[in-house]
Amino acid sequence: MIRIERLSHRYQLGAKSKDRSVSVLHDIDLHVKEGEIVTLVGRSGSGKSTLLHAACGFIRPSSGRVIIDGQDTANFSEGDWADFRRQRIGVIFQSFQLIPSMTAYENIELPLVLEGIGETERNQRTNQLLERFGLAGYAEHYPGELSGGQQQRVGIARALALKPRIVMADEPTGSLDSDNERQFLDTLQQLNAEERITFLIITHDEHVASIGHRIVRIEDGRLSEIASPRPLASTASAQQQEVSSR
Ligand code: ADP
Ligand code: MG
Repeated sequence: MIRIERLSHRYQLGAKSKDRSVSVLHDIDLHVKEGEIVTLVGRSGSGKSTLLHAACGFIRPSSGRVIIDGQDTANFSEGDWADFRRQRIGVIFQSFQLIPSMTAYENIELPLVLEGIGETERNQRTNQLLERFGLAGYAEHYPGELSGGQQQRVGIARALALKPRIVMADEPTGSLDSDNERQFLDTLQQLNAEERITFLIITHDEHVASIGHRIVRIEDGRLSEIASPRPLASTASAQQQEVSSR
C-alpha cells in the first residue's frame, strides 16, 4: 500500500551553498502492506518526520521513490499531492494544524467541503466523528478554546473525514492523556480491523508502538525492523482459524 524505495534525503542549509547540507535519510526501503499497521520509532532528530513528510509529499526526497496505492508519485506536482492526500491519505500532524478561525465542527467538515460533498452527508459524517472522538459538546468551540488533547482529537477526526484507505500520523498521541490515548488506540485498531485501513505511525510511546503489526526503528536515517508483535499474515490466518472454528 505504501512502498518507499531507496529513499534518501538531504536538507540544504541556507540559500545557495551546496556544501552546507545535511543528509538525513539514507537509502530507506519500507513496504507497508494493505491493512497493516507499521509503527516507526527512533530518537529525536533521527529522521522520522522527514520520512513521513516524504511519504506524503510535503517534501520531495533528494532521491528514491514513493509508490502509494499503486500510484508512482514521482511526477506529482504539489497540486497533485494535495488532491491525492485529501482523497486517499489521512494525515495526522504532531502540531494539529487546525484552522484557528474555524470551529471544531468546521475543521472536521473542511475536507468534505473541499471534496464537494453535499450538506446532508457532511452533517452526518461530521457529527459522527465528533461523537466518536468525544467532541460532541465542543462542536462550536474554536481551537483556542480546546485543550491540547481535544485539539489533537479534532485533527484525528479531520484526517478520517473522507474515510481514507491510508493514515499517516506523526506522534498522534503526543498531547493525549492516558485515557484519551487508550481511546485513540482502540479506535485505530477498530478502523484497522473493520475497514482495513493501513497505518504508518511515528511514535515515542511504547504503548502506541506495540499496536503495530511491525515496529520499525530509524537510527541516523537508516531503518531496521525491531519487532513484529503480530505479523499481518499470521493475524489474518489467526482470524481465519477463529472463523473456521466457530
Ligand atoms: P525526528 O522527527 O526523528 O525528530 P526530523 O526528521 O524532524 O527528525 O529531523 C531529522 C534531522 O533533520 C534533524 O537533524 C533535523 O535538525 C534536520 N532537519 C529537519 N528539518 C529540517 C529542515 N527543514 N532543514 C534542515 N534540517 C532539517
Ligand atoms: Mg519529528
